[in-house]
Amino acid sequence: MTTDFAVHPHPAPLSDAEREQILADPGFGDHFTDHMVSIDWTRDADGAGGAGGSWHEARIEPFGPIQMSPAAAVLHYAQEIFEGLKAYRHEDGSVWTFRPQANAARLNQSARRLALPELPEEMFLESLRLLVSTDQAWVPSGDGQALYLRPFMYASESFLGVRPSRQVAYKVIASPAGNYFGGELKPVSIWVSRDYARAGHGGTGAAKCGGNYAASLAPQLQAAAHGCDQVLFLDPTRDNAVEELGGMNVFFVFRDGRIVTPALTGTILEGVTRRSVIRLAQDRGLDVQERTITLDEWREGVASGEITEVFACGTAAVITPIGRLFDGEDVIESAGGSDVTLDIRRELLELQTGRGEDRHGWLYRL
Ligand code: PMP
Repeated sequence: MTTDFAVHPHPAPLSDAEREQILADPGFGDHFTDHMVSIDWTRDADGAGGAGGSWHEARIEPFGPIQMSPAAAVLHYAQEIFEGLKAYRHEDGSVWTFRPQANAARLNQSARRLALPELPEEMFLESLRLLVSTDQAWVPSGDGQALYLRPFMYASESFLGVRPSRQVAYKVIASPAGNYFGGELKPVSIWVSRDYARAGHGGTGAAKCGGNYAASLAPQLQAAAHGCDQVLFLDPTRDNAVEELGGMNVFFVFRDGRIVTPALTGTILEGVTRRSVIRLAQDRGLDVQERTITLDEWREGVASGEITEVFACGTAAVITPIGRLFDGEDVIESAGGSDVTLDIRRELLELQTGRGEDRHGWLYRL
């Protein structure tokens, strides 16, 4: 299936000089390219409350404010989902992204949980191709830089009743990105959230919906107040099983070659990076276990030397060693950042930036 997109070019895009100045030091999430993709969805008149409807008015248009009713359902009930992936410029100038089909599938998994319509994979891929080809001058080429793509979908209907929206908007915006935690790779410090959980069983933890992130902000403030970079969420109903960070999955490297990451129990987000790290670790002959690992096992494993490294992974920061874990007054020092973490990080980065061998067919040309 191909979608015909109407093209409405930006009348006054940033000049080359202005753009180059931004690309010299893009930060993360501060600057946006000249265009965005928009597609609207309307439920069929006879759709009896289900997802029967159609996508229409696919277009590329100038990046800019969205007009919507103050009664738009998303503003009240948070019926919204999103994705995040990066486009990398390879040495020959071509632009590629990494496993976008996995993001398309996850968007649709989130859509089902939030009672939003699914978007056909080909339409998702075409929306990325179109935005990146239109704004390709915005894809940076510096070390550690990429163009971050943010597809999202929200309830745009003006209606205050609580039911799935009959009108939905899908958009893609793009933002040039440097190194997520800034500068060179240094281990991140983590605050254990004891007052707040991120997700509950049967909740929305496995979906990438805005509400999950809104709920993570108060614990994030606590982390910052204690001088920590990120929050670790636990599942208090399962002996404080380790879940994930606010925006990254977690891995433990054991001295005997085992690698453990929390299993997908429905309360954590399945990261594309997580899935890729599992495969790359298996390729190295490591024994990867997706299972429950509790905070006690973390503490005791580090104390006994059985756990040698702990790292977090996600699209934004790729792979980052975890340095210290602050659990109230208790501090767990993780070894973080030695061989396995840095080796897998290097392999993944080389792959994404076109300097490695794409033996799994993960690269996708935009
Ligand atoms: N967990 C959460 C809660 C996240 O927001 C993210 C970022 N999308 C991840 C894990 C990592 O996912 P990915 O590797 O697909 O970026």
